[in-house]
Amino acid sequence: MKWVTENIEFATGEKYQLLDITYDIEEKINSLSIESGVCIINVPHATAGLIANENETGVKEDILNRILALAPENVTYQHDRIDNNARAHVISSIIGTDSVFIIEEGRLVRGIWQNIFFVELDGPRSVRKVVIKIFGE
Ligand code: ZN
Repeated sequence: MKWVTENIEFATGEKYQLLDITYDIEEKINSLSIESGVCIINVPHATAGLIANENETGVKEDILNRILALAPENVTYQHDRIDNNARAHVISSIIGTDSVFIIEEGRLVRGIWQNIFFVELDGPRSVRKVVIKIFGE
């Protein structure tokens, strides 16, 4: 049984953005030669999130627009008195920062139209991180 922790680091270029990290994660799994196991993906940030869905321009725009509507702009947020990013904190709390996938036959089990996205809610940032815990054999 292998227990491995891997990090993926990258920069983001927009204030709000969906970044496809599917292939970065699959590359880590391939390099470990795990046939059957579990992959926990975690975003260790309070102003970002994680979702799984289709990588299609229209769907991505729809998702981002609906996500941003979860915490409207024209509302008073107490946290904005400190660092003006309350919306990012609220949305991150609602959509969540982690996901679990099964690994079978050496591959991440996911739908054909299901990619994994880091959701930037307070960019651009020079360093963002995703932590992956993989265990299996
Ligand atoms: Zn803040």
